[in-house]
Amino acid sequence: MAQDPETAGLSAELLSRYSGPCPRYTSYPTADRFAPLGDAEPWRALRDIDSLSLYVHIPFCHSLCYFCACNKVITQQYGLASSYLDQLLQEAQWYRSKVAGVPVTQLHLGGGTPTYLSDGDLRRLLDGLGEVFDLRAGDGVEYSIEADPRTLEIDTLDTLRALGFNRLSLGIQDFNPDVQRAINRICSYEQVAQLTSAARARGFKSISYDLIYGLPGQSVASLQRTLDRALELAPERIALYHYAHLPHRFKAQRLIDSDLIPGPAQKIAMQLAAVARLTQAGYEFLGMDHFALPGDELAGASRAGRLARNFQGYTLMPADALVGLGASAISYSRDGYWQNLHRLKEYAQAVSERGMATSRGWLLDGDDRLRQWVIGELMCRLRLDKDEVTRRAGVPFEEYFGDELARLQPMFDDGLLRQDARYLHITERGRWFVRNAAAAFDRYLNGGATEARYSRVL
Ligand code: SF4
Repeated sequence: MAQDPETAGLSAELLSRYSGPCPRYTSYPTADRFAPLGDAEPWRALRDIDSLSLYVHIPFCHSLCYFCACNKVITQQYGLASSYLDQLLQEAQWYRSKVAGVPVTQLHLGGGTPTYLSDGDLRRLLDGLGEVFDLRAGDGVEYSIEADPRTLEIDTLDTLRALGFNRLSLGIQDFNPDVQRAINRICSYEQVAQLTSAARARGFKSISYDLIYGLPGQSVASLQRTLDRALELAPERIALYHYAHLPHRFKAQRLIDSDLIPGPAQKIAMQLAAVARLTQAGYEFLGMDHFALPGDELAGASRAGRLARNFQGYTLMPADALVGLGASAISYSRDGYWQNLHRLKEYAQAVSERGMATSRGWLLDGDDRLRQWVIGELMCRLRLDKDEVTRRAGVPFEEYFGDELARLQPMFDDGLLRQDARYLHITERGRWFVRNAAAAFDRYLNGGATEARYSRVL
């Protein structure tokens, strides 16, 4: 049975105190802090790495989903995608001498809609990347792609498997027709079922569904029906994201009737119902928003304490560095982050003039690295080893993070956190507010502009 928020100890008053805007911490510092790099070159650290993650951003989509906050271009002119690919492969060449011989342990195609590319261009992309990067398709590496089930052809699954892709992520969001209409993303259950079984038959070893709660027109009952339908198809993973309504930042979201968006208490009721339904069905709840069947590698990584977080969410294969190719893509190394220009035109121009398109980034100092690790521990393991912090900081945990502990006191008082001699723990009830706990350790967070920049926790 699904719990209501009150039964779970989450009163309306508590929710209103913790549901405000807060970063999602796919990086620390968060990307909105990035600034022009000047003479800094965080990519120099690529020469000292043993493994690499590669992310490729394909920003094109056929139609606009109203909830979307991604960097995308809606177009029917395929020529744009084809020339973009030329530029992207030119950008890849810039990394040639920097990553020579380093095995790519993880390749992810995201967007936009990566399957917007024709099968021929998908092959051209992988061939071009293979000229620069040490790609070794096989069981020991993770090749994943985000696909739009509305437009993905079965034949493309053959192409993807032949190119080495072994993980498929299908953007579903919700099966309910009213919700689908409200977000302008109509996709039948049958399409998803057909693709899922076709992908299985072709040997994709992990199929993931992206679902969203908090969408316009959703209710606890309608979300449960969507989950039941998803469970009939038994995807290995489910990512259940919270819809962040930020129409002042994302123009597409202005097309959503905000009166239809569920309030914080309804959203937490949805989240509680979803966790109950998915865990009853045998899924393990990982981190903040992921679920995986026990046999899936992500669940195994979580049990073994090896879950990590990157720009795509949770991962089991954190590499020493990430190279992100394409408009707006972010890369990181031990020394820091660098991000490409967002707009296609500017990206293309930068690549043709400089061979790369970095516009801003961040050089990490020792304190950044410590906080980056602390936030990662909270988000992935829901606990923090205070002895390890002391070891890393060279100063007792309570001393180094005295202000942060004072900031966290209300969360201790509300039973969202607890600590023993060794660990600071996020409690079961506190799991909904991991971002709030992480934010207490964010040196750069200042109250003034928070409302405008970040999504609400609920
Ligand atoms: S949700 Fe995906 S398919 Fe829809 S507009 Fe955004 S990037 Fe494109």
